[in-house]
Amino acid sequence: MLELIAKAFNTNKLTKEEIIYLLQNLKDEDRQTLFGYALETKKKHYGDEVYLRGLIEFSNHCRQDCLYCGIRASNPMLSRYRLTPEEIQVCCQEGYNLGYRTFVLQSGEDLWYTKDIIVKIIRRIKDKFPGVAITLSIGERKRDEYEAYFRAGADRFLMRHETASERLYAKLHPTMKLENRLACLQALKEIGYQVGAGFMVGLPGQSHIDLAEDLCYLQELEPDMVGIGPFIPHSETPLKGEKGGTVEDTLVMVALTRLLLPESLLPAATAMGTLHPQGRELALQAGANVVMPLLTPSSVRKLYELYQNKICLNDESGKCRYCIERRINSVGMAADLSRGDSSRFIRTHELKQKR
Ligand code: SAH
Repeated sequence: MLELIAKAFNTNKLTKEEIIYLLQNLKDEDRQTLFGYALETKKKHYGDEVYLRGLIEFSNHCRQDCLYCGIRASNPMLSRYRLTPEEIQVCCQEGYNLGYRTFVLQSGEDLWYTKDIIVKIIRRIKDKFPGVAITLSIGERKRDEYEAYFRAGADRFLMRHETASERLYAKLHPTMKLENRLACLQALKEIGYQVGAGFMVGLPGQSHIDLAEDLCYLQELEPDMVGIGPFIPHSETPLKGEKGGTVEDTLVMVALTRLLLPESLLPAATAMGTLHPQGRELALQAGANVVMPLLTPSSVRKLYELYQNKICLNDESGKCRYCIERRINSVGMAADLSRGDSSRFIRTHELKQKR
């Protein structure tokens, strides 16, 4: 086992069989070794810095019906909200004043925001706050829309693949196809976005083989970011009675991702903070290097409930900003408010400019 972990650390590559063997046979004491190597790898590429991104959850309307998600289309118990482009701009102003230089605009799949509206939102933010990076996380759209957003100034796109297992994906997404999701990620990459994929840990029926498939897919795609979080059941969904993922299993997947994609940006998921008071700090010590404190107005935060017991629902954005910084400092790391591009992206960009 130690040999296998050392191989992942030294070569940043494992085969599917090796990953499965590792997941099936990892003992408690091996975990600490794995986390240690992952932290060392993170430090090699990103030092002690942890990037902060301001997250704006701007709409909880969704046309999709993912079985695990609290804002799925067929949850009738939820009041739905939309922030206007002006309200989004106000969130950004607040974030800019707090020092954020990346804004993540996330929502359900809400077609009220047409291509033109999204383009306008992006242009206004880029005009008013020069030098900031915009990350979109709005789900599946047509390629020409992704192209228009990129031309308007969007820099990054975050869309977890959720699970790379055909069988599991089909079971959990009655209105979607894995093939389309992966095609969207591929298109986003070709267009020139810094792309974020990612998956949930502890989905009902998810095996070690399924998780190995997630890592193999990531090794192939080579995304700039990877969002990994535990699945947490929501009471108004068909999966309400399921067990959900654990902090320990999620940490193992974060650490392995750090070893296999050493230059990637890995958020310490908010869902980790729900399962454990120090969940995000533990993720930082297992190789994560990004946190996304909320900039969503507190009046609507509780309505963007993807899973039960989401944290920070009653806090002001300023409080989140400093709470997170204290947590980062508590594990001997430093909050970095710069744009925080992935080092893979910076390297390939510089190469292009030289040519
Ligand atoms: N509509 C956008 C944003 C989705 S919400 C998109 O399709 O990309 C952001 C993420 O929350 C999802 O990608 C999913 O991985 C996660 N999520 C949803 N429900 C969850 C749950 N019950 N537990 C944990 N994470 C969940």
